[in-house]
Amino acid sequence: MSDDGTAGDSAPAPKSNTARARSTVLARVVTYGVVLILGAIAVAFTPRLPDPKPAAEVLSSAPGPATPAAPVWREHHDTLARGETLTALLGRAAIIGRDLARVLQSATPLDERRVPAGLTLTSRTLKSDSVPSELVFQLAVDHILTVRRSDSGWVSTEETLPWVTDTIALAGSITSTLYDALDAAKSDLPAANRAELAWALADIYEYRVDMSRDLQPNDVFRVLVERRRGPQGAVRLGSILAATFTVAGSELQAIRHERSDARAGYFDQDGKSMRAAFLRAPLEFRRISSVFGMRKHPILGIWRQHAGTDYAAAQGTPVRSVGDGVVIFAGRKGGYGNAIEVRHPNGFVTRYGHLRGFAKVTRRGARVDIGQTIGFVGMTGLATAPHLHFEVLVGGVQRNPRVALAMKGGEPLPPSERDTFERERGALIALLQRDAASARLAARP
Ligand SMILES: [Zn+2]
Repeated sequence: MSDDGTAGDSAPAPKSNTARARSTVLARVVTYGVVLILGAIAVAFTPRLPDPKPAAEVLSSAPGPATPAAPVWREHHDTLARGETLTALLGRAAIIGRDLARVLQSATPLDERRVPAGLTLTSRTLKSDSVPSELVFQLAVDHILTVRRSDSGWVSTEETLPWVTDTIALAGSITSTLYDALDAAKSDLPAANRAELAWALADIYEYRVDMSRDLQPNDVFRVLVERRRGPQGAVRLGSILAATFTVAGSELQAIRHERSDARAGYFDQDGKSMRAAFLRAPLEFRRISSVFGMRKHPILGIWRQHAGTDYAAAQGTPVRSVGDGVVIFAGRKGGYGNAIEVRHPNGFVTRYGHLRGFAKVTRRGARVDIGQTIGFVGMTGLATAPHLHFEVLVGGVQRNPRVALAMKGGEPLPPSERDTFERERGALIALLQRDAASARLAARP
């Protein structure tokens, strides 16, 4: 349905000064990768390993005289089980007796009493030998401890494996939700990273787009994001650098920009902050399980146009105030059950119903900030399932939250920063268009 491209190290301006360092780092990562792959097929040729005696033996038993064989290694992977000791793990790798004592003595970063379950050990043994010559402990995804047998005994070295950063572009079109669209987007991002990216994207747009309600099938998004790749295929997402969202035919860009005071933020194509006076939804997008539209009221049993917006979410999900304001009501209110009303500037009042309970701060007269948790989802009042009922009132009249909270944009960048911003935006959007071009085509029905 879509595709991704790799922009490479030199692409984003903020990273270019480290590009050279990264290419060195990349070479090292490739080296480690090769080592691991060879390990996976259990036979590797490693002439550099220091081991004096057996190499000659293996050589002498080599089958063909034309190709002098390198030493043949057996590799064994093992994991420390819960409650197990390091001694037991090493014992399975045939490290016992005097070798065991020396390995434990040499591997100082490993504290026998505090090794975490799940610690992995790769032991490498010459085929002609019974005791391993090399032990590799994976202390963290990017941190290994190697203990090698040498003439002078067991010697340990610690290494921090490097991460490489590049940028990737993903594109997709909405079929059901942003989460599903990103999950379906063809990319080599692991599933957890795709979910993380969906939430991060929703967070950037949360003042402009209610990702749970405003999106329509075939709305298109593109996103340019930093990707950090570590050893063994570990992937971490960095910052989103740029994104475009085409919602109901109009494109809304979000460009990451570091301000002159070094604070980074996201700005739209007009240079206005993506942050605005109101959040578009009182629940975080990642917490919403579904939305209700016009429907038969489950208890009153009649069809009605709902005056507010209902968000289905689990009991206890935090409910946040969509804007700065003052609590004017917090208590029981008929069919709303436990309800909160917050008064905002310009005559706006927001109402939150069916709550299980209130946050500590939520008392009549209390000031609340935008995004602050004021209560928790429940099913008090006329509700048959846990959900949040949300209303916007303007001048005392219920309004469609979608229309009432639609924001043109936040604070604009100061004129002194506009030229820089426009240059950055141009470069990022060009990159996004280039790398997501194939994806965009593929996403068309
Ligand atoms: Zn409702």
